Amino acid sequence: MIVTKFGGSSLADAAQFRKVKEILDMDPERKYVVPSAPGRRGPGDDKITDLLYAAHAAAQSGKTFKHLLERIQARYQEIANELHVAMDISGEFAVIEKNLENGASPDYAASRGEYLNGKLLAKYLDIPFVDAAEVVRFTADGHLLEEETNDLIGEKLRSLYRAVVPGFYGADAEGNIHTFSRGGSDVSGALVARAVNADIYENWTDVTGFRMADPRIVPDAQFISTLTYRELRELSYMGATVLHEDAVFPVRKAGIPTNIRNTNDPKHPGTMIRASAGPSDLGHVITGIAGHKGFCIVSVEKDMMNAELGFGRRVLQAFEEYGINFEHLPTGIDTMCVVVHEKELNPHREEVLARIQELVQPDTLTVSDHLALIATVGRGMVRNFGTAARLFTAISSQGISIRTIDQGSSELNIIVGVDEEDFEAAVKAIYDTFVRI
Ligand code: ASP
Repeated sequence: MIVTKFGGSSLADAAQFRKVKEILDMDPERKYVVPSAPGRRGPGDDKITDLLYAAHAAAQSGKTFKHLLERIQARYQEIANELHVAMDISGEFAVIEKNLENGASPDYAASRGEYLNGKLLAKYLDIPFVDAAEVVRFTADGHLLEEETNDLIGEKLRSLYRAVVPGFYGADAEGNIHTFSRGGSDVSGALVARAVNADIYENWTDVTGFRMADPRIVPDAQFISTLTYRELRELSYMGATVLHEDAVFPVRKAGIPTNIRNTNDPKHPGTMIRASAGPSDLGHVITGIAGHKGFCIVSVEKDMMNAELGFGRRVLQAFEEYGINFEHLPTGIDTMCVVVHEKELNPHREEVLARIQELVQPDTLTVSDHLALIATVGRGMVRNFGTAARLFTAISSQGISIRTIDQGSSELNIIVGVDEEDFEAAVKAIYDTFVRI
């Protein structure tokens, strides 16, 4: 049995709704459906979720918001009319308007996008609608209660052969609505897949899966056919964004593969993400390359640092005290480098440096800005000799100097730091070396 999640662009208008129905009709195993709110129909268009947040903000500041609700209502009405679905959309909007006037929360406002789309889709498909507020449980301060949610969804869907469960939101025990962070319908889909113990969690979107590199840098980057959940974590942490980060955990835990598919190209098998996988079917040593800019290196130097017990802990304490995460820690005998996000360091830069000074009295303390990190990820790297050598040669042959190197002992990835201005050229060089062979 398959759980399908359709993103906003897959349900942006009536034509997309028809495609969704065709996809569901193609395989009777596709029983449970998790929709997003209607997304953009093309460049320059609005996402319903953004309009709902705007309506809420206007209502909060006492401005008129009716025109925004009317625009949203018109989008649903148009879809319903074109698909000949009978639904009291104006009645639904009268309720939303009243609730916004009475100070409803931004989460409530945003959730209406998925709620209404779910109702509309369920009517169009002629299958039951299950309000996520009944089965996705949050704490009063907005944290997901995963095990309770798992039980509630499981219980509810056991008696329903097919159903639509809208994504993105749920409710606390008092019935107050809470949402996940943006893009969170991916998480809802994963929760439903886990609760019904699906064979596959299909995540339908507008791209044909993950690519081996960002197509803005490598326009013809190949699609990845199989990815492991660990590789996915490494790639998405470094900036590959196809799936919401938190959508991995429920399905990974339950051993359910996630299949990224394209609603506009349903025959393409997309990217299959599994717990484990054999070597790349395309024969490449690496699976993908991801990275981003905006890091800096704080270098702490002190003679005999290696003999000073607790030195590293005290340096990290300075960052921790200001709530700054570190990304990497390349260290030498007498130097310790802490790689952090510039935007996390900048608001507290002076204080953190002063604190390090106070805690460890270094000989020198310097910060270099504008660093980009690039992760080259691949389950195949562990079985191959010379991957690091090829990677460094690829980068240095472009005249790019490597500022930091980090290879996790799992040998799943090698991370290098380069100057921001060299970022794109370095990604291209790595891609050319490992993929265009
Ligand atoms: N509609 C929400 C958003 O735009 C959630 C989602 O689509 O997953 O973020």
